[in-house]
Amino acid sequence: MSAPNNSYDPVEVASLQPEEVARMRDEALSAISAATSLEELKEVRTAHAGDRSPLALANREIGSLPPSARADAGKRVGGARREVSEALNRRQTELEEERDARVLVEEAVDVTLPWDRVQRGARHPVTTISERMTDIFVGMGFEMAEGPEVEAEWFNFDALNFLPDHPARTMQDTFFVEAPSGGDSGMVLRTHTSPVQIRALLERTPPVYVVAPGTTFRTDELDATHTPVFHQLEGLVVDEKVTLAHLRGAIDAFVHGMFGSGLRTRFRPSFFPFTEPSGEMDMECFVCHGSSVGATDSHCRTCGSEGWIEIGGCGIVNPRVLTAAGVDTERYTGWAFGLGVERALMFAHGVEDMHDMVEGDVRFTSAFGMEI
Ligand SMILES: [Zn+2]
Repeated sequence: MSAPNNSYDPVEVASLQPEEVARMRDEALSAISAATSLEELKEVRTAHAGDRSPLALANREIGSLPPSARADAGKRVGGARREVSEALNRRQTELEEERDARVLVEEAVDVTLPWDRVQRGARHPVTTISERMTDIFVGMGFEMAEGPEVEAEWFNFDALNFLPDHPARTMQDTFFVEAPSGGDSGMVLRTHTSPVQIRALLERTPPVYVVAPGTTFRTDELDATHTPVFHQLEGLVVDEKVTLAHLRGAIDAFVHGMFGSGLRTRFRPSFFPFTEPSGEMDMECFVCHGSSVGATDSHCRTCGSEGWIEIGGCGIVNPRVLTAAGVDTERYTGWAFGLGVERALMFAHGVEDMHDMVEGDVRFTSAFGMEI
């Protein structure tokens, strides 16, 4: 019996041959250097260093070699795997550094650039409150009417029974646009929405129920409580047998719809050329309901502890106005009112300075939100 031939190696594993191990290593190394992103490198790592990679599979074959051959093969495969692993780690570091550098450039924020985001605006609260006021009267059956802002003096004054020497006509109150010439009336920026009464009557035959919101102009200096451009809501009813009681009922309905049900109203005597009798309209303070009147320990900012808030003027339409508009005064009577829109906004929302309403700062407008 001959001695075992230890030099004889009956097992040959192709994947463990030096050339094959070198080929698998080179293939892995070139794939690693070809990876251009961390995502690609992750795939390369799985393919060439994962459990199912050629080198990992080759490593498992070592156990099938004769013991004498295992050390060499193990050294060969282990060396190749170490080289692949080191190359992967180097490439990983390189790609991470590239990514960090790119992020610094691409995601840099230049804080000196102008702010280009456009702030969303909102409708002006004078517009929205005017529409709400109008809507209440439209809900009662009134029709909306409009007139020009540059108005003939005849509509603005004469037809409304302002005599030629009435102080409202003087330069202190009125913006004159054109002086009268020949027989033509001069032109003014309308000082109130009342000329729409005349226009509405000339365009319609009674019964007339109109409400006219609009911009008006007077030569006031802008201060906390005055503005040369302001807004009114005019109302006019001309029908048979209408009385002051109907006016009172309409104003009550308006106050209840706008500021809360159950609020009382009152009329105080006043004077306007185009109504007779005329009155100022007040409503009960919707904040203190009069409890602050005479109180020493509390003050109501809304009504100034008066208990009442003035909302506008009103009266029975002067027959001279109806006559100027061609209405039969034997058959028809009418009443009219004018409400101040800015004033309503001031006490309804606690706006204390008229400047806020006219300066156009979107932060003021936005605070009222959007009403559509
Ligand atoms: Zn009050």
